[in-house]
Amino acid sequence: MTDELGTLYRDVIVEHGNHPRNHRALGNDAVSAEGVNPLCGDEITVYLRLDGDVIADAGFESHSCAISTASASLMTEALIGKTRSEALDLFDDVRAMLTSTTPSVAETDRVGKLRALSGVSAYPMRVKCATLPWHTFREALDADRCSTVSAESAQ
Ligand code: ZN
Repeated sequence: MTDELGTLYRDVIVEHGNHPRNHRALGNDAVSAEGVNPLCGDEITVYLRLDGDVIADAGFESHSCAISTASASLMTEALIGKTRSEALDLFDDVRAMLTSTTPSVAETDRVGKLRALSGVSAYPMRVKCATLPWHTFREALDADRCSTVSAESAQ
């Protein structure tokens, strides 16, 4: 990564950290999950509203550091409009990008703006900050599936 790109990525994280997108709870028709990163003290709640197989809306509330907040902001932007399977593919790509120092995923177009987070992989203490929103998102998505299953079995 050139210094110029490094600065650009840092700017994206600072901007999203200071002005997070979708930093709001969703209503009763949303599913949610809570995540905690004790290493840093990050706490986050991720909300998803599914319309069939599509993530119609996503939001989050958090008490978290700039990296975790920026990751959640970029994540919710990226998730809205995606199908469940597209979102899970993105989760896999982002997790690979954040937990690996090999640049292969970050160099693809699949992750788009989320590439701004790729520099975090060089800082092991911060990786959990960046992955926390994503693991919490996975739990919320699973929670939706569980509630659907239990609602069906209750009938
Ligand atoms: Zn953090």
